Amino acid sequence: MAESVALVVHCSDPRYQPHFQEFLAKGRGLGHYGLVAVPGGAQLLTMTDYLPKYSWAGWRWTKFMMKLSQPDRVVLIAHEDCRWYLDPRFGYDATRIEARQIDDLEQVRRTMMERFAARRVDLYYARLESGRAAFQAL
Ligand SMILES: [Zn+2]
Repeated sequence: MAESVALVVHCSDPRYQPHFQEFLAKGRGLGHYGLVAVPGGAQLLTMTDYLPKYSWAGWRWTKFMMKLSQPDRVVLIAHEDCRWYLDPRFGYDATRIEARQIDDLEQVRRTMMERFAARRVDLYYARLESGRAAFQAL
């Protein structure tokens, strides 16, 4: 059976990189995957009204990577204590950041399905607990 290929979108926070890699390779069996890693991860793709140029670039990269990777699934990962989301420019309620991140993942999943006819978009929320990462499927 051919190895499954994914396109992954996650935050570029250094605290999480080895955990994301290990989870994707060992946890999900994705040895090779296309990657869009930027501060805030998939939030990049939700900013069409607030930061349209930024969002435009994000969708251009994503479209390019979809074409290059030809993925059979897309994986979007958000994480706890995402400093990008805490930036005052967004004016998010700090006590509701997790709900906001999950809303963003769900919004991007819907748009991925509409724009690219993506059949499968997996969502995860990662937390660090005493040096280990836990991934919750959403
Ligand atoms: Zn982050």
